[in-house]
Amino acid sequence: MRIGHGFDAHRFAQGCKLILGGVDIPSELGLAGHSDADVLVHALMDALLGALGAGDIGRHFPDTDEQYRGADSLKLLEQVIKLVQVKGMRLINADITVVCQRPKLAPYLATMQSNLAAVCNTTPERINIKATTTEKMGYTGRGEGIAAHAVVLLIGGG
Ligand code: MG
Repeated sequence: MRIGHGFDAHRFAQGCKLILGGVDIPSELGLAGHSDADVLVHALMDALLGALGAGDIGRHFPDTDEQYRGADSLKLLEQVIKLVQVKGMRLINADITVVCQRPKLAPYLATMQSNLAAVCNTTPERINIKATTTEKMGYTGRGEGIAAHAVVLLIGGG
């Protein structure tokens, strides 16, 4: 078994979409980034790559590469899951925490879990997603952006 941890944060910006866990969430502000800035999926991808000992998403999908401009992060996650399979491993479970003052994410969590489970070839109950505020403290609390933490457990060869 192998454990992995991932963290990511993206800044709010005008004129950007807010996409979290593949869900397009209605919001005054969206997240800025080279790809679709899906901070939740990025944290999960980094956790998976970490468990594989395969570096990070910056190495696999550089933000200097034009092919990843506006990229659908679920498609990138698909590539990371392929890598997990190539290494003879599979995901036991993932636990993800999104740190976000607003908007409220509770109504979207189940859809996010289904989206990620589908890409990860697993069931939604193996992809737990939690949302928390920081009680208005720090950069997420001031509404400057959204952060996400993820841990995963893989089983298999390796
Ligand atoms: Mg990112």
